[in-house]
Amino acid sequence: MSGMGAASPPDLRIGLGWDRHRLEAGRPCVLAGVTIPHPAGPAGHSDGDAVLHALADAILGAAGLDDLGTLFPDHDPRWRGAAGAVFVAEAVARARVLGLRPASADVVVIADAPKLAPHRPEMRARLAALLGLPADRVNLKGKTTELGLGDRIEAYAVVLLTGAPA
Ligand code: MG
Repeated sequence: MSGMGAASPPDLRIGLGWDRHRLEAGRPCVLAGVTIPHPAGPAGHSDGDAVLHALADAILGAAGLDDLGTLFPDHDPRWRGAAGAVFVAEAVARARVLGLRPASADVVVIADAPKLAPHRPEMRARLAALLGLPADRVNLKGKTTELGLGDRIEAYAVVLLTGAPA
């Protein structure tokens, strides 16, 4: 069995991200980079995309980097109205500098409204594209609370980064 057991284990890093935004009437409802028809959207200094904010924080966490709020402070005018995709792209780029790339990701979105199921395939595809992964390496589930929390969107994301060569 020469050769077996000699290989070093894969360099795997896991990261967890969370975010929550209040829904405000008249704001565009952008989640996972997808605009969903809804009379209210996430409030925030940026576009308020809680899914992409959680995802970016998970990437940064896995890479051992600063968090989203430190890298993109909400008092900095550069990030006013910024698309969440910008933060994810920056997090992926910073991880890549460290020799790390996404291997898989999973997201839970907690929202009593809007209904996410019809938009799930598009949201999933968008996440996969942002991470440079095939769609079957990325998942996204919508959960309702039945607590009448239609005024907020909350998201948890886990990301696995690998240092293995592409
Ligand atoms: Mg946020």
